[in-house]
Amino acid sequence: MRIVSGVQPTGNLHLGNYLGAIRNWVRMQDDLDQDSECLFFLADMHAISMPHDPAELRKGTLEMAAALIACGIDPTRSILFNQAQVPQHAELQWLLTGTARMGWLNRMTQWKDKAGKNREGASVALFSYPVLQAADVLLYQTTHVPVGEDQKQHLELARDIAQKFNNDFCTEDAPLFTLPDPYIPPQAARIMSLRDGSKKMSKSDPSEMSRIELADDADTIMKKVKKAKSDPDALPSEVAGLEDRPEALNLVTIYAALAGQSAEEVLATFGGQGFGAFKPALGELMVETLAPISSRFRELVGDREALDAILARGAALARERAVPTLAATYDALGLVRG
Ligand code: ATP
Ligand code: MG
Repeated sequence: MRIVSGVQPTGNLHLGNYLGAIRNWVRMQDDLDQDSECLFFLADMHAISMPHDPAELRKGTLEMAAALIACGIDPTRSILFNQAQVPQHAELQWLLTGTARMGWLNRMTQWKDKAGKNREGASVALFSYPVLQAADVLLYQTTHVPVGEDQKQHLELARDIAQKFNNDFCTEDAPLFTLPDPYIPPQAARIMSLRDGSKKMSKSDPSEMSRIELADDADTIMKKVKKAKSDPDALPSEVAGLEDRPEALNLVTIYAALAGQSAEEVLATFGGQGFGAFKPALGELMVETLAPISSRFRELVGDREALDAILARGAALARERAVPTLAATYDALGLVRG
């Protein structure tokens, strides 16, 4: 099994990213057998598809690397790198643009959402973004890609590109690209905003009070939890009683995810109690979980040399794995390289 996953190095990581994605990456890494490996990358080459500040991107890339390690990604067991240090991603992307069809890309909902009404003014990179994503996984003969709902369509596209390339340029018994399968982790929690139970917790929400960031200190966490939107009723003893109470449901979901319990188990303990009692317990559980992560994060961010060395080493390992597939792709296309 080879698992590949990426994250954009923008902004501060939050509890939703941790409980919905990164914690599952750590579990995958920890559960792997000896013949399998995980590659995790910072999608800095994707970040230039939207207007961005170069200084912020540089800082964000290093911070994201530190945050992933602080959360438990072990760079001696997993391959951790940023795309910009593995130019094979960009090279393969170009080679695959010959196979990807305009019509396929036009149908991508993320393109439609992010370009909005201003398609003429959108960057070419924003349009071809899914081809780079296809290159990210096809480059490594990836078997499994952990994806959230929002990325399923792009993985389908990667499979379509791989299939068409194999059909057009390979013999049936020697396809070049492995078709990657989606990997849906068993416990992917979806965490909602602390200010509005109908919106997901998000990096791009303008209100800092809507999210718990992994770098928040204990006081900030307690304050945000205390101010989180809730309702005046006591918690029910059954999950069915949380219907139509999205904020209450979210807080119980967060508690359950942090404690490794089901929502039923949480309600067995807290049913009948109000938020005056539940919120401090939730805040303490968050502080307990996040304190080791944020202190390790601060330590790592302060050591630029060590971070550079980790990313350089990860990139060297990634390049080693990428080179044979890239060479075979040039060759299949009839490109002469001596
Ligand atoms: P943005 O608002 O800029 O899209 P984001 O908060 O959605 O940022 P991403 O970088 O898009 O963060 O996502 C990183 C990973 O975290 C993805 O795997 C995504 O599915 C997951 N994720 C993001 N938000 C949540 C959430 N609220 N609950 C669970 N998982 C989440
Ligand atoms: Mg997102």
